[in-house]
Amino acid sequence: MASRQHGRHHVIIGSGVAGNQAAETLRARDPDSRVTMITLSKLPFFNRYDLPRVFHGERDWRKFVIYPAEYFLDQRIALRRATRVTGVDGARRTLALGHNETVRFDTLLVASGASPYMPAELMEYRPLMHGFVSFQEAVAAADALPRGGHAMLMGGDTIGLDLGRTLLETGYRVSIAADKHLFWPHEVPADLRPRYLDALRSMGFEVIDAEQRGQMSAVRAGGAGQPARLLVFNDGSEIAADIVMPFFGIAPSIEYMLGSGADIERGLLVKPNLRTTNEAIYAAGDVCQIWNDADKRYRFYHGWKNVRAMGELAARNLTGADQAWLPSQDENLQLSAQGGIHSPFWEYA
Ligand SMILES: Cc1cc2nc3c(=O)[nH]c(=O)nc-3n(C[C@H](O)[C@H](O)[C@H](O)COP(=O)(O)OP(=O)(O)OC[C@H]3O[C@@H](n4cnc5c(N)ncnc54)[C@H](O)[C@@H]3O)c2cc1C
Repeated sequence: MASRQHGRHHVIIGSGVAGNQAAETLRARDPDSRVTMITLSKLPFFNRYDLPRVFHGERDWRKFVIYPAEYFLDQRIALRRATRVTGVDGARRTLALGHNETVRFDTLLVASGASPYMPAELMEYRPLMHGFVSFQEAVAAADALPRGGHAMLMGGDTIGLDLGRTLLETGYRVSIAADKHLFWPHEVPADLRPRYLDALRSMGFEVIDAEQRGQMSAVRAGGAGQPARLLVFNDGSEIAADIVMPFFGIAPSIEYMLGSGADIERGLLVKPNLRTTNEAIYAAGDVCQIWNDADKRYRFYHGWKNVRAMGELAARNLTGADQAWLPSQDENLQLSAQGGIHSPFWEYA
C-alpha cells in the first residue's frame, strides 16, 4: 500500500475518447500511480457519436454517458470536471487551473481535442447559429427545429453530414451550403466532386454551391411569420431555414499550451511515439499533429478509432514502451452500394 502513495502522478487534460482510453491504460500499466483527469466538460465521458439521437426525442443525458461515476472511483482516476487548464509550465512540470490552483505532474498527456472552426467573416453571427458539440447544444438545436422543419448545414464537414443523415431519416428537410469544407477531413479530388455531390443529392440533401454565390456572408433572424433564420450570400441571395448550423471542420484546443515549451504548428507537434518537444509531455487525439516520415510533415489523424488508439499508445509510451503511431482506420470517403456516401469516420465502437 505504501508504494501507492509514492507512485508517479500522471495528469491528463481532456475527458474525450483519447483521454479516457489513456487513463484506462495508465491505470492498468502503472497500478501504483496517481491518475488525474482534468476536463472542462460537466458531464462524465459521453458518446458524441450518439448525439444525433436527440433529434429522435432522446433527452436523458444518462443514456449518452459511457462510464458511470463509480467507474472512476473503482479505477482510482481522479476526475475533475468543469475545470479549465489555463497554462502549462513544462520546465517546472506544473499546470495552472482557472481558479488559480497549481497542479504538479510527473507526466502530462494533452488530450484537449478541438473545437468547431469558424471562418472569421462569420464569427459575429455565431449567436444566431446552433452548435452541436455538447449535449446542451444538441438539445437546443433539436428544440429549435419544428417537426418536418428545415435545417441548413453551413460548410458540410463529415460531422455535419453524419448529423444530416439522421435529420433526413427523421423527416426533416436538410440543405448544405457547400464550401471548401464539404466532406472535411476527407480530400475529394476535383474531378470526382460532381459524383460525390450527386451522391449527397441521392441521399436527400439539397446542395447549394456557396462558392457560386460568392460565399456565405451573414446569418440574420427571420421576420415575424417567417422561418427563424436567413442565410445570406455575397451575391445578395438568401435562403430561409429554421436553424443554421456551422460545420467547417475543427481547430485544436491548445491556447493554454502557448509558453509550455512544447512546439505548436496548428496542433501540438509530436514525434511518432506521441511525445512533444518536452520529454514529460505527450499528446493524443484531435489536439496533435504527428510526424509522418513518408510525407515529411506533421499531420492530423481523425476518427474515433484513431483517436482511441492514440490515447492507448501515448499511455503505453508514458509507462515504458517506445512504439510508433500507425493509423488504425481507412481515411477515404466511399460511395455506398445504395448510391450515397459513406465515411469510415462514421464508424465507432
Ligand atoms: C456531434 C459530433 C459528432 C461527431 N461525429 C464524428 C464522426 O461521425 N466521425 C468522426 O470522425 N468524428 C466525429 N466527431 C469528432 C470526434 O468526436 C472527435 O474526433 C473525437 O471526439 C476527438 O476526441 P479527443 O479525445 O481528441 O477530444 P474531445 O472528445 O474533443 O475531448 C476534448 C476534451 O478536452 C477538454 N478540454 C478542452 N480544453 C480544455 C482546457 N483548457 N481545460 C480542461 N479541459 C479541456 C474538453 O472538455 C473535452 O473533455 C464528432 C464530434 C461531434 C461533436
